[in-house]
Amino acid sequence: MRTLTVLGSTGSIGTNTLDIVRRSRHLYEVYALVAGRNVDALAAQILEFRPKVAVVATSDGVARLSERLLGAGLPRAEWPELLWGDEARVQVVAATEVDTVISAIVGVAGLEATYEAVRLGKRVGLANKEVLVSGGRLVMDAVREHGAELLPVDSEHNGVHQCLRAGNRKEVTKLILTASGGPFRNTPKEALRSVTPRQALNHPTWRMGNRITIDCATLMNKGFEVIEACWLFDFSPSEIDVVVHPQSTVHAMIEYRDGSVLAQISATDMRMPIQYALTYPDRLEAPVPKIDWVQARQWDFLPPDFEKFPLLKLAYQCQEAGGSATCTLNAADEIAVDAFLHEKIGFSCIYEIVYEALAKMPPRNPRTVGEILEIDRESRALARELVTARAAGAVTA
Ligand code: NDP
Repeated sequence: MRTLTVLGSTGSIGTNTLDIVRRSRHLYEVYALVAGRNVDALAAQILEFRPKVAVVATSDGVARLSERLLGAGLPRAEWPELLWGDEARVQVVAATEVDTVISAIVGVAGLEATYEAVRLGKRVGLANKEVLVSGGRLVMDAVREHGAELLPVDSEHNGVHQCLRAGNRKEVTKLILTASGGPFRNTPKEALRSVTPRQALNHPTWRMGNRITIDCATLMNKGFEVIEACWLFDFSPSEIDVVVHPQSTVHAMIEYRDGSVLAQISATDMRMPIQYALTYPDRLEAPVPKIDWVQARQWDFLPPDFEKFPLLKLAYQCQEAGGSATCTLNAADEIAVDAFLHEKIGFSCIYEIVYEALAKMPPRNPRTVGEILEIDRESRALARELVTARAAGAVTA
């Protein structure tokens, strides 16, 4: 039996994780559920999964969560311990009862707790790609030093992980990550200036949180995945290709030096990679549709358009540059995406803000979580200033 802490339990990956738990209660125990602000969803999860501890982002969240639990009539004696904030997140991954952590908070808020889980040698199912984008070197050094099991939940990396089991790492010449191409695959470059958040949130194949969905529309997400793959599997950016595959059924491929290519193929359902991370090295029945090979189907593979989606290229460049560049890339993108979602800037401005933030931030070599979080804070502040300047310019223009 695995005892879990789910970081980001109320999000898309978190709720899919709990669905896996719901279907195999004999295999999993939930020690802690960690959320941000959505106390309604968290209260419902507490009633169903009865964790020992529940953590929210703020003290005010604890008060709101208490009201919900009272309202639901849960006797006080059956309440979990209610905590909030950064330290509490670290505490619930560090608890000795916990052997497995699902890291599915969005953004750098998940870094410290995920790093702690790695340092304690736990199994970590990693969805929160910003952890490796911001702190790849630090986290991977800790994985090696402390013998943690870092299992990718991101479907492409999960696919690579599966393919790599077939052969010798030294014989692999390329990783190929597929990208759906997002909702604007066929939209002309000039038209991207005027697309709306609603259009950008309409992902063709996956249902996910808002930030990752916008990152899919700009292909920033694929850029983050290239960075994540470099760290997870020890490849250089030049050894990783991105190929657009609108059907999102082939998740990843690896090329061996003799030219043989292996692919990982499965339905577009995150419960498969989540379960894989929980049950590895075993495979169990998963609640996802199987592919019907008797049905006629067509799969397309196309090169990505780096000019139309310049954030993808920027990600390659940042990873080549090393140091703090990828941390700034992530932080500035998060601010720019939020500004786009709140209609403060246009879609194409996301790239412009990120590019300018990178140009203005002096490169550094962070060695601790604290230093990474400081670079993240500074990059965000800079990106916010750039957004404000743009928004003011747009109003006066
Ligand atoms: P969601 O936006 O759906 O969920 C994010 C989760 O993080 C929520 O539980 C949210 O809590 C929590 N959260 C946000 N800020 C904080 C904070 N400060 N403290 C504690 N919790 C916080 O995102 P997704 O589930 O889509 O994605 C999660 C991660 O997984 C991202 O890094 C994403 O890139 C990655 N990923 C997601 C995939 C998907 O299919 N969704 C696929 C591959 C990777 P609350 O809602 O309560 O505020």
